[in-house]
Amino acid sequence: MKVTDYFEKAHGETLISFEILPPLKGGSMQAIFDILDPLMEFKPPFIDVTYHREEFIYQVKDSGYYEKVAIRKRPGTVGICAALMHRYGIDAVPHLICGGFTKEDTENALIDLNFLNINNVLAIRGDARKFDGKFIPEEGGHHYALDLVKQIQNMNEGKYLDPNITDGLQTDFCIGIAGYPEKHFEAPNYSEDLSYVKAKVDAGADFVVTQMFFENAHFFKYQELCDKAGIKVPIVPGLKPVTRAYQVNSIPRIFHVNFPEDLMKELKKANTSKAVKEVGIEWCIHQSKELKAAGVPCLHYYTMGDSKTIRRICKEVF
Ligand code: FAD
Repeated sequence: MKVTDYFEKAHGETLISFEILPPLKGGSMQAIFDILDPLMEFKPPFIDVTYHREEFIYQVKDSGYYEKVAIRKRPGTVGICAALMHRYGIDAVPHLICGGFTKEDTENALIDLNFLNINNVLAIRGDARKFDGKFIPEEGGHHYALDLVKQIQNMNEGKYLDPNITDGLQTDFCIGIAGYPEKHFEAPNYSEDLSYVKAKVDAGADFVVTQMFFENAHFFKYQELCDKAGIKVPIVPGLKPVTRAYQVNSIPRIFHVNFPEDLMKELKKANTSKAVKEVGIEWCIHQSKELKAAGVPCLHYYTMGDSKTIRRICKEVF
């Protein structure tokens, strides 16, 4: 079923969904089941599985020189999606990125998904690789998520890259995109950023999932501005609890989001790692309850492999 159909069927009730990462190469599918089994009591209609492009690392050669090699540390997105659908009878939403894919690769990946009966995708650009400085698309690939959305929508209309395919199968992908309540860090301003969200929705995107945020006011403002800009699709807030002291610096650096002063005050008072985690969990519970009361379609938790913490939050909220 499509993600947006679940929202419609819920008639205003807030649903729960989770995002998981594929295990590091060499890891097992059981590790994913161990994260998700304890969360199934919350009946998530869908689970997102992230996609990880190859990264560059420097390996020391026998000669003592360094060699730059590309490796994919977390492969397996599509296989995991198929395994989740099989085990839990729910829908899986693979993330599909522009980085590392030619248009042909994208088309073939979408054909695989369609054959596996995976009808939801989150279409995103991907970040710059370490050492690249800025996002560099694959030669013959897409520069922006907007172009990826257009390609998926074309396939939904039976249009393939090969113009000789005149009666191609029409896929039926429900397309999610990313949204940034605190603005995407590369965008020159908020309205420019929103104009691309609008363009993606006009091109066929069906719903938005947001970057994490720690102040609900950012989300509510984002909802309002989207509405004013004519973006009428469901907007799903993404949430992550702070669980470790170092995240006070790493989360803003990596995800380009702010920590509100009240949260910082509480975190500074916490002088053990356990106390920091308590503050983070309580904050996330408070955020979740307020968003639920405001009638968001779904609370989307970034599990980061920590099902115990996410389970505790969900138990308090639902
Ligand atoms: P885009 O929509 O392409 O936007 C990128 C920037 O370009 C923005 O500043 C935008 O304002 C601007 N822009 C957009 N379109 C145009 C245009 N046509 N012309 C000029 N400027 C334009 N990354 C991964 O690698 N794997 C994942 O699984 C993953 N999952 C994610 C899930 C969520 C919910 C979110 C919020 C992010 C995720 N990311 C993931 C990170 C994401 O890839 C990065 O945030 C990336 O920098 C931007 O992706 P986007 O789809 O928003 O890009």
